[in-house]
Amino acid sequence: MSCPLCNDTRWKPIDEQGVRRVVRCDCWRDSVGNQILADARIPPLYKKCDLENFKTDNDSLVHAVARARAFCDAFPVVDKGLLFLGNPGLGKTHLAVATLKRVIRQTGARGLFFTSPELLALIRGTYNSAIRSSESDVLRPVMDAQLLVLDDLGAERPTDWVEETMNLIVNTRYNHRRVTVFTSNYPIDVPAGSHAEELKERVGFRLFSRLHEMCEFLALDGVDYRVAGPDATPEQLASLLKKGSATSSEPVRRGGKAMVKARLKQGGLDLGWSGGKAGRS
Ligand SMILES: [Zn+2]
Repeated sequence: MSCPLCNDTRWKPIDEQGVRRVVRCDCWRDSVGNQILADARIPPLYKKCDLENFKTDNDSLVHAVARARAFCDAFPVVDKGLLFLGNPGLGKTHLAVATLKRVIRQTGARGLFFTSPELLALIRGTYNSAIRSSESDVLRPVMDAQLLVLDDLGAERPTDWVEETMNLIVNTRYNHRRVTVFTSNYPIDVPAGSHAEELKERVGFRLFSRLHEMCEFLALDGVDYRVAGPDATPEQLASLLKKGSATSSEPVRRGGKAMVKARLKQGGLDLGWSGGKAGRS
C-alpha cells in the first residue's frame, strides 16, 4: 500500500514561501521511529505506557507528568535528565517509558531502556560467559544512546564493583552530554527514626552528587495503584492514604548501614574502573 503523501518515495514535496522543495516524508519518520522503538528494549508490560494514559490523582503526579512532557518537547535541547523518585506502584517506570517513547517518536533519537540490575547482570555476564563478548560490546550502546532510561536505580546491593560500574556508565554519559532518565524506589531523605535506606546510601556519595548535577528530581507520592486498583474512587484512595499504604511505608530495610557509611566517607575517589573485580555480588 502506497503512501498518499510521497508515493513511497519517502520524500514529500512542500511549498515554502513559494519555493518548492522535498523533505523526508512522515511515513519515513514513522518507520524509522518504529524501528528505534522496537530496538529500545522496552519491557512488554510497559509497551502501552504513554504520558496521555498516566493517571494523575495528586499534585506530585500532575507535576511529574508536566515536567516529563516539557522534557520531551525540548529534547534534544535539554540540560538535565529526570529522576523519578517514590515508592513502588506510583508509576515511575510508566513515566520513564512514556518519556522515552515520546522522545523517540518526536525526534527519532536512539533511546534505550534498562533496569539497573539487568544492565549490571549483562556486564557481569561478559566476564563469566564462555562466548566472551567484551564489556565494550555491551556498554557501547548504553553509553551512546541519545536517551537512556535506567530504571530501579539502587536496587542492586551496593558493592564496590556495582558502585564503580554505575559511576563509569553515568559519568561517561554525563561527560558526553548524553541525557539519562532514572527511577528509584529509594528516598532522598528519611524521617528521623525510620529504618528505610536512602538513595545516597544505595548508590554511593559520588553518584548521588552527580545525579544532582544531571537530573531534575521529581518525587512522586500517592497510593500504590497495584493496591488501589485502576478504578479506585477518590474515597478509597483517601482511605488507603490514611492507612499509609504507600507513601509512609518503609520499602527497604536498612542493611549493613555502617559499612555503607564507611564507604561513603571515601567519596571523591578517582574514577578508575578496574572492571576485573566483577565477582558475583
Ligand atoms: Zn510517505
